[in-house]
Amino acid sequence: MTNRSDPARRQPWPQSASRPVATPLQPSVVYASQSPDALDAQYEGRASCYTYAREGHPNADVLARAIDAMEGAEGGLVTGSGMAAVTAALLGSLRAGDHVLGGDQLYGRSLRLMAEELPRLGIETSLADPTSVAAIEAALRPHTRMVLIETVSNPTIRVADLGGIARLCTARGILLAVDNTFTTPRACQPLAHGADIVIHSVTKLLAGHSDATLGYVAAKDPRIADRMRVLAVTMGLTPSPFDCWLAERGLLSFDLRYDRAEANAKALADALAETKGVTRVLYPARFDHPDHNTAAALLGPRGSHMVSFVIEGGRAQTNALVEAADGINFAPTLGDIGTTLSHPATSSHRALSVEERAAIGIGEGFFRVSVGCEDAGFLIDQFRTAIGAATAV
Ligand SMILES: *Cc1c(COP(=O)(O)O)cnc(C)c1O
Repeated sequence: MTNRSDPARRQPWPQSASRPVATPLQPSVVYASQSPDALDAQYEGRASCYTYAREGHPNADVLARAIDAMEGAEGGLVTGSGMAAVTAALLGSLRAGDHVLGGDQLYGRSLRLMAEELPRLGIETSLADPTSVAAIEAALRPHTRMVLIETVSNPTIRVADLGGIARLCTARGILLAVDNTFTTPRACQPLAHGADIVIHSVTKLLAGHSDATLGYVAAKDPRIADRMRVLAVTMGLTPSPFDCWLAERGLLSFDLRYDRAEANAKALADALAETKGVTRVLYPARFDHPDHNTAAALLGPRGSHMVSFVIEGGRAQTNALVEAADGINFAPTLGDIGTTLSHPATSSHRALSVEERAAIGIGEGFFRVSVGCEDAGFLIDQFRTAIGAATAV
């Protein structure tokens, strides 16, 4: 058996006057140091060194700096999942006795964190409609410490009044955290609109290939960023080097993928609106979207790669639609390079009662599409055929 500390094996990383074009992958869990003095220098911040992968590693830093640049952030943190990023944002700043107000259509697991985990720790939570500043203002409490919203909500594609909520939060000294997963920095940079914290599930469109589970969180205030980092390291919310390496590679094509997916989504939304059997189409850049004005102010000419639509009928029709759309993955994720179709009533929102779903506009006939980079004509054909099959049942 050979030991890696054997001097014959303990060679420095081979040096080269040229540099690799592709980012190297560094999977090492630990880094050997020269002496206790060297460790002192490292821990006291006099020498910049990696020590232990949970506390930081080169692939996480390379990825974090790339997303920082996209979000106009500094010192962002990559985490082991999007939920780890949400957790770091909340637990990094909240303490027992605080109240946190969430948007009423947050990602399902964020809702569960608010409903089940935070109250157990003595943190009060409640929800309000983020498309209305008045609704958010009315729901604030004297001890509200943070408001958590999503720029564009899942799966009903409602658009938060981000600028208005940011002004309200600033005036009241409340932190505003924005989960920007659905929108991506290509369509909106929440920090520039007054948010204090921006969050991503990097698993989705940023990494883009459904092969890495990661998150990202950045704060404007370096003290908050520091607290989130310490919490993430202590609670083990930090990421694996290989996932970071995959995601950084995925980011290289992010702009191209986003632009293509968004153009496809616009074309698909317009085609669905003309398709017999479709009763509703939700897409922020369409004039018939309920938040069209907010979307225009916040996203400018941008839309989203997400489209939702509603068909008439019940389970027989929704089964027929999914079975006929055999060129589309029926999978409850989003942001893959290929289009995925999801049915919230039986997946992301199955824990809600029929009435609770109805209150946010999700019935049996509601579908959400994460539009990918396929040929637009192929996608439109697939959906027209599938909806035709559903209406024929
Ligand atoms: C998927 C998602 C998350 C959670 O991310 P994971 O990487 O799955 O942990 C959080 N927020 C939004 C809006 C998401 O879509």
